[in-house]
Amino acid sequence: MFNSLSDRLTATFKNLRGKGRLTEADVDGTVREIRRALLDADVAVPVVREFTAAVKERALAETVSQSLNPGQQVVKIVNEELVTILGGETRRITMAKYGPTVIMLAGLQGAGKTTLAGKLAKHFKAQGHTPLLVACDLQRPNAVKQLQINGERAGVPVYAPHPGVSSEFEEATGDPVVVARNGVSEARQKQFDIVIVDTAGRLGVDTELMKQARDIRDAIKPQEVFFVIDAMIGQDAVNTALAFQEGVEFTGVVLSKLDGDARGGAALSVASVTGKPVMFASTGESLDDFEVFHPDRMASRILD
Ligand code: GDP
Repeated sequence: MFNSLSDRLTATFKNLRGKGRLTEADVDGTVREIRRALLDADVAVPVVREFTAAVKERALAETVSQSLNPGQQVVKIVNEELVTILGGETRRITMAKYGPTVIMLAGLQGAGKTTLAGKLAKHFKAQGHTPLLVACDLQRPNAVKQLQINGERAGVPVYAPHPGVSSEFEEATGDPVVVARNGVSEARQKQFDIVIVDTAGRLGVDTELMKQARDIRDAIKPQEVFFVIDAMIGQDAVNTALAFQEGVEFTGVVLSKLDGDARGGAALSVASVTGKPVMFASTGESLDDFEVFHPDRMASRILD
């Protein structure tokens, strides 16, 4: 995903290699190159501005006065600032003190929510938890079926609506708020310890979608609301994220489709612009293509 950004930054740092001492002009030139590389990778302009200002200030303070390996020092500064824009320290999920921990997924249609629901279910099950999936995407034809397939693959039951039928894990309603609420009480009664609630997405942000997501959130009071963003959507990522932040006040970000070959920088901006950490990364269509997101490891990967 970040190959081109990674190559550009590496080339920039190569110019500093072997320099015994950096002049202010060296720092300026390097920061200019970094700025271009970030902009070309689609990182949002305000994020680039803040990032380069921080790097410049630190580089001038920490390298110009020192004689030992200033090039390495600049790489270290860039690495640390990248970790900062990616959300700082790895954040662990907030667990409920009593009863099941509720995680709600929100995002545009096609962002990768239903796939992520299966991945999270498998991930938590492997950690010894007992997750329940709840299908509240009643907009997209097939979304419930797709979640059921993912649940089966993960070996995790799915609580789903089924018009006209009411059974152990099925609800005879078309109202996603009712399904969400009943799914969570089902989990409480049957002692599932994590509930993952898939919700509907639209192609673009719209007020009805946002209201529905907010109504679900208010009904189930989740510990976590994850905003899932397709890393390939480019500059729209930031505006979409801000709209969802206002609409549902998410607690964390999941970057999906990080396996794509797009520039990906917009996705890197989301944590910085919203102030919410990236929690997980989705890197393919299979349930195993999934990782806990570590800002420090991602920064090292970009600077590798
Ligand atoms: P939803 O509408 O948000 O629930 O999105 P889906 O989970 O249905 O995903 C939309 C499409 O993207 C599906 O074809 C998925 O197989 C695909 N997809 C989801 N996550 C990833 C990923 O991390 N990488 C790739 N390459 N495809 C993904």
